[in-house]
Amino acid sequence: MPTTHHTRMLILGSGPAGLSAAIYAARAGMKPIVVQGLQPGGQLTITTDVENYPGFAEVIQGPWLMEQMTAQAVHVGTTMIWDTIVDVDVSQRPFKLTGDGGDVYLAETLVIATGAQAKWLGVEGEQELGGKGVSACATCDGFFYRGKKVVVIGGGNTAVEEALYLTNHSDDVTLIHRRDSLRAEKILQDRLFANPKIKVLWNKKVARFVAGEGNAGLVGVDLIDTETGEASHEATDGGFVAIGHSPATELFRGKLPLDADGYLEVTPGTSLTAIPGIFAAGDVTDKIYRQAVTAAGMGCMAALDAERFLAEAEYHAMVDA
Ligand code: NDP
Repeated sequence: MPTTHHTRMLILGSGPAGLSAAIYAARAGMKPIVVQGLQPGGQLTITTDVENYPGFAEVIQGPWLMEQMTAQAVHVGTTMIWDTIVDVDVSQRPFKLTGDGGDVYLAETLVIATGAQAKWLGVEGEQELGGKGVSACATCDGFFYRGKKVVVIGGGNTAVEEALYLTNHSDDVTLIHRRDSLRAEKILQDRLFANPKIKVLWNKKVARFVAGEGNAGLVGVDLIDTETGEASHEATDGGFVAIGHSPATELFRGKLPLDADGYLEVTPGTSLTAIPGIFAAGDVTDKIYRQAVTAAGMGCMAALDAERFLAEAEYHAMVDA
């Protein structure tokens, strides 16, 4: 039987942004509901070692961190619901969202923390070697390649920033790009070309990530020249795929302003979207930092912004009555 849930704060997404929003909102007595979505816990649940989330001296595991965050959110009074939202009506408050089983959510405030997914090449070996040499986040995993040889695939700002970042750990970084020019900003290109630790392979696409014998992980990439079709091989210990991300914003297309890359637009320095009462936090609105800790911080901001919004709205409703 479909149910109607009425809440002061509905949070979409259960990664660090959504759960941090929930923890703050629950502790403010807002009884938030978190709709967990298709990947409960978000991107960290497909990560292994996490070494950069403050508060833990030892390496922790991504899935464990998200279990802890979920337990913390529930402990302070959050209701977690496993559902997928299929329809959104943001034309009036309470906002009305519908789950795929027919449940209706009436939300006085809405926090969108639906995250983003890294785009992958979809070639052989990529999935199998995820966490064993293949990664989509140099900031997260670059540290594990100290003194080793790494390649970065892509030609945008992210790829160039990742290549530059990796030179903090490796003296042998190769950028592999499918064309003969980069789309990254010129200032980043200048830094890339000036860095003696980085070489660029132009007009090459990755055909396969190659695993070593036994449990050796990634040992190289098979390449195809996009101009000549010639095959080649590049030995490497780490492969960083940096070909863009897809923010999970399809539900809001045409309803809230998105930027050219599909990210939700917010007033800079806040979590406020164009519709009063709707807030955004984490990777769904952030294409620059994309870290668990920044997402968590933005989740906190969204909860505080929502709480303030509701207090003001309720005060006006009372005074104007
Ligand atoms: P982009 O979409 O800008 O670039 C993706 C790159 O990956 C392109 O060079 C593209 O090649 C390549 N690519 C895409 N698909 C494939 C494929 N299947 N095989 C091989 N190569 C592929 O993504 P970014 O993540 O770099 O940036 C996204 C947005 O975020 C941009 O607006 C960027 O400016 C912004 N950003 C800003 C930062 C900052 O301000 N510091 C930092 C990071 C991102 P091709 O060029 O041939 O299309």
